Amino acid sequence: MIPLCVPNLIGNEWAYIKDCLDTNWVSATGQYVNRFEKALADYTGARYAVAVSSGTTALHISLLVAGVQPGDFVIVPNLTFVATANVVTYMGARPLLLDIDPDTYLPDLDLLEDFLETQTRLLNGVSVHTKTGCPVRALMPVHTLGNMVQMERMLALCDRFGLTLIEDTAEALGSFYKGQHAGTFGRMGCLSFNGNKIITTGSGGIILTNNEADARRAKHLTMQAKASAVEYLHDEVGYNYRLVNLLAAMGLAQMESLPDFVRRKQAINQYYLDAFAGIEGIRCQRITDGVSSNYWHVVICVSRRDELLTYLAENNVESRPLWIPMNRLPAFRQDRYISRHDHTGRIAQEGIMLPCSTSISDADLETVSSLVCSFCTQLTPVHAR
Ligand SMILES: *Cc1c(COP(=O)(O)O)cnc(C)c1O
Repeated sequence: MIPLCVPNLIGNEWAYIKDCLDTNWVSATGQYVNRFEKALADYTGARYAVAVSSGTTALHISLLVAGVQPGDFVIVPNLTFVATANVVTYMGARPLLLDIDPDTYLPDLDLLEDFLETQTRLLNGVSVHTKTGCPVRALMPVHTLGNMVQMERMLALCDRFGLTLIEDTAEALGSFYKGQHAGTFGRMGCLSFNGNKIITTGSGGIILTNNEADARRAKHLTMQAKASAVEYLHDEVGYNYRLVNLLAAMGLAQMESLPDFVRRKQAINQYYLDAFAGIEGIRCQRITDGVSSNYWHVVICVSRRDELLTYLAENNVESRPLWIPMNRLPAFRQDRYISRHDHTGRIAQEGIMLPCSTSISDADLETVSSLVCSFCTQLTPVHAR
């Protein structure tokens, strides 16, 4: 079986983890956590990096630090992994689901601007949703598969409508817009090191920020809000969300391989692009001008996607459909969906994730792309019906 997207543990992972075991520093304090944070800050150019137990907990803490209140709205893309929408509900807030651009799979900024202009009004610097009276407190875009929107435009919209920008950068470690790393544009940016991400700690995440007070509060909240001087004094409700040293050790080793991983992901993407060029019926993600993507995951859109999934499985290739849109999940069916044409619905129906582990061989890439090509070229007469 050619796997979809598996970890690549070829560097110092064993050595650094062994060091933790040998020295007994396995838990939430230890030098690897600090070194991992510094490696992330150095690589991304963020002033501060706070290591946490997952991408989801990074997003949760960011919303807490940003002061999202029960009854608020937070705008999230309708096409994303469920964690983006889940964390909004952890706050007692509700997501406003925003449709995507069908070519880039990114939040549709025209639609967002139109919504903010016509359905909210500014009150003391905060946009209030006219119909419900609820504040639209924050915007949490996803840099889908490593792509990014025109960030100047997004920042200008946030500024004009009083939205706090929190970037869900879970998929975009190694992505840059005009030379600036994803997750460093907004008030906070959240990375994930889940097993399928470009680097992994098994489970882990990090909060990037340039704001010292936010970094300090984020770290405090993830360590049970422990007051420094007195034992067992906790000055607010805290969380046990800190990344442990053992996993940070793995993360540090992974960071040493990151530049190679990004180069390999870019080569894998180019391989597929070349193989699919000129084949009717295969559409690839369009990357925004000015973006250097990490190409975290290759997704193509084809009609009769489900048959392609089966065909690949029969030929020992693991593939997966793209996410089910948030507005189709039980938890979010009742939420508002900002959309004109439901592009999310179509992309989610046609999108298929193809194998793109950094360890994949060129021979396996050849196998996958020829299977996809032969399936899609056979389809042509059926299309034309
Ligand atoms: C992976 C992912 C997350 C969640 O990260 P975890 O580390 O698995 O908690 C959140 N948002 C997006 C867009 C993701 O892809």
